[in-house]
Amino acid sequence: MDTQSPPLHVYFLPLLAPGHMIPMVDLARQFARQGVKATFLTTPLNAPQISKSIDRERELGSQITIRLLEFPSKESGLPEGIENLSATTSLEQTVSFFNAHDYFQGPIENLASEDRPDCIITGPMYTWSNDFAAKFGITRLSFWGTGFFPMCAHNSIRRHKPHEKIESDTEEFVIPDLPDTLKITKKQIPEPLKGDPENSVNELQEKLMKGEEGSYGMIVNSFYELEPAYVKHFREVIGKKSWHVGPVSLCNKEDGEKSQRGQAASIGEEECLNWLNSKTPNSVVYVCFGSMSIFSAAQLREIAAGLEASGQPFIWVVKQNTEWLPEGFEKRMQDRGLIIRGWAPQVLILDHVAVGGFVTHCGWNSLLEGVTAGVPMVTWPLSSEQFFNEKMATQILKIGVPVGAQAWTRRTDSSAPINRENIEIAVKELMVGEEAEERRSRAIALGNMAKKAVEPGGSSDTDFSSLLEELRKNRNKN
Ligand code: UDP
Repeated sequence: MDTQSPPLHVYFLPLLAPGHMIPMVDLARQFARQGVKATFLTTPLNAPQISKSIDRERELGSQITIRLLEFPSKESGLPEGIENLSATTSLEQTVSFFNAHDYFQGPIENLASEDRPDCIITGPMYTWSNDFAAKFGITRLSFWGTGFFPMCAHNSIRRHKPHEKIESDTEEFVIPDLPDTLKITKKQIPEPLKGDPENSVNELQEKLMKGEEGSYGMIVNSFYELEPAYVKHFREVIGKKSWHVGPVSLCNKEDGEKSQRGQAASIGEEECLNWLNSKTPNSVVYVCFGSMSIFSAAQLREIAAGLEASGQPFIWVVKQNTEWLPEGFEKRMQDRGLIIRGWAPQVLILDHVAVGGFVTHCGWNSLLEGVTAGVPMVTWPLSSEQFFNEKMATQILKIGVPVGAQAWTRRTDSSAPINRENIEIAVKELMVGEEAEERRSRAIALGNMAKKAVEPGGSSDTDFSSLLEELRKNRNKN
């Protein structure tokens, strides 16, 4: 740390969704541990989800605080109480929710007039942040909570529009101009990329990409050894300044920190660990689809039956009520399965030696947390950029077994696109046999690289130091 000048002051402003807030909290703690003054900006209903991690960090001596901003419910036309993307229940609400991020500009400018921060790190949707940074003469960085590969794939499709040259939604096409030859279908690419004129997210997407063009650079929750060709592609072909500083979840070292990440867990730490301790190493499959997914009762019944038929011990995280469970399921599974209704301490679970596989929706955080724990995965992408991430797990890293998802699943879908046999087969393939062992060895090797990356002198640690240096230089210039 430079002891001559006052510490850098950085504002952290994530998109208000768990998959963005959770890694940004870890990122802010990482900055604070380097002597940076970190101010985390969020709203009253979101604060309880992050305050434990932040308070704990402050108690350890870091300069890190939360500043509350009122959520613009009235201005955005949303009912009171919806302050997080996971609380929206329709496409219309989702669009209003994204647009609500515009209204934070005024209140944050008021704060900044007093604080005079040196830098603001924003998630997507804060499209005003370039103007804000220019007004205060500070650096604006972006943090999108995703990796280099999915950003490169997104950029390729946006630029080359390969999906416009094919006949049907289910025809595979190559994602152009990438270091690997990877195929995808129109049904699997992110919705806004499709360019469907009827879709209300189109306009948002354009606004968002424009906002991004003016950002000074991108902080990425990844590490070089995970996706070296795509780090290079992002920097040299797309030409964007970027720093890999992850996996950020590794700043949580003790069990207590791991289980306090995000919402309050629906299971006690001790109960969870006791259950895991009763199982043999690498025997448990952990099944969780992130913070946003809602399945139909029909799909949940198929998952239950598939897990039962797989014969493997499992922890299954279910966000909804469980009236739909097959008759007698819990009784039959009492020694083999643990259902967590609500929020699971995911990193605590993944890091336990008993866990040998992960059924995941391929959200970037989950993918990276699985990699970091050295756990192979069944890939079951649902939406966003998750089909890109699946390609990475199955075809680039070769640590994933696809469940066979063909298209986006909407939260309102009443069908069960993945049947019990698909699930049983994928879980068995993941857990048993020679190929499973090879997949696990590759995952463990990646997990070791992830841990090395954040150690002193590792690739992420080095990139993080150069980022701090650049921010200090920028401060002196401004
Ligand atoms: N998570 C968790 N417990 C849960 C569900 C999710 O701790 O029950 C965490 C998970 O560890 C990850 C984040 O929430 O850090 C979810 O992010 P991801 O990108 O995987 O998916 P999203 O929720 O954005 O779809």
